[in-house]
Amino acid sequence: MVKKKREEFLKEKEIFLEHIQKAGLRRTSQRDLILEIFLRTEDHLTSEDLYWLVQKKDPSVGHTTVYRTLKLLTEAGLAREVRFGDGKTYYEHHYNHEHHDHLICTECGKIIEFFSAEIEDLQDKMAEKYGFRLTNHSLRMWGVCGDCQKRTNEYIEAPSGAQPRVRVKSVVN
Ligand SMILES: [Zn+2]
Ligand SMILES: [Zn+2]
Ligand SMILES: [Zn+2]
Repeated sequence: MVKKKREEFLKEKEIFLEHIQKAGLRRTSQRDLILEIFLRTEDHLTSEDLYWLVQKKDPSVGHTTVYRTLKLLTEAGLAREVRFGDGKTYYEHHYNHEHHDHLICTECGKIIEFFSAEIEDLQDKMAEKYGFRLTNHSLRMWGVCGDCQKRTNEYIEAPSGAQPRVRVKSVVN
């Protein structure tokens, strides 16, 4: 398993190297480090998140370098930009990753990835119906995850005279 993962990274590193050469850029140890950490993190990251992870390994890497490298990774097809309606741009692995869509918890920010052949199918049918040639799509559904529902229920059921906590939530997007 571990061996297979390493080989996958090799392929991804090769793709990246090819891309930066084509872009007329040099291979640098900072870019290598950013790529390495990105590949090892199976998560949805903002460039800020990745910056802090990279900082732990090499404090000399600047914010702009991380941001630009993420852009390069996206152009090379290794990363994909995703937005979850909080105004931030997140990046996730793209190369060798199956297409998936997202469920987003508005309480804790948890993101669940899912794939449904039926939904994919319906989307194709809808596009066809409107004479639309589909090139890409991103389905995002917002709501409250199971854990947060449990937490809220526990709170409501708690027998106490305390004032209910008022939650003011502005819905972005
Ligand atoms: Zn989809
Ligand atoms: Zn939640
Ligand atoms: Zn995802």
